[in-house]
Amino acid sequence: MTRMWGIDPALLCRQHLLGEHNELHKLVGSIRAGHSIEGYVERGQVDTARIERRHESLVAEMEQRGYNHASPISYEDTLKQGTIDEEANLRELSDRCPRCRARIEEQHGL
Ligand SMILES: [Zn+2]
Ligand SMILES: [Zn+2]
Repeated sequence: MTRMWGIDPALLCRQHLLGEHNELHKLVGSIRAGHSIEGYVERGQVDTARIERRHESLVAEMEQRGYNHASPISYEDTLKQGTIDEEANLRELSDRCPRCRARIEEQHGL
């Protein structure tokens, strides 16, 4: 499922870090192909204005962890669509994923 978590990439487990990164590439592919992203926008899953910077910060975290990255994104946003709720995403990841929760608890002392 396409979803930009938007939270500090250091808080994402391997699966969610690589997952969000992969989804960003698919999202850009969809936009370039002219497919509608209306559903994601309506559900608060994407913020197109943040795509390029978000990709950069995910890649920086991936490199920090020693994961390979060979897929640059050069995306100039002209859509300016969507917003994401980082606080809600933090709670959702914490509820849904024990590995993310462990990272979140470690850094936030929750
Ligand atoms: Zn990439
Ligand atoms: Zn996770």
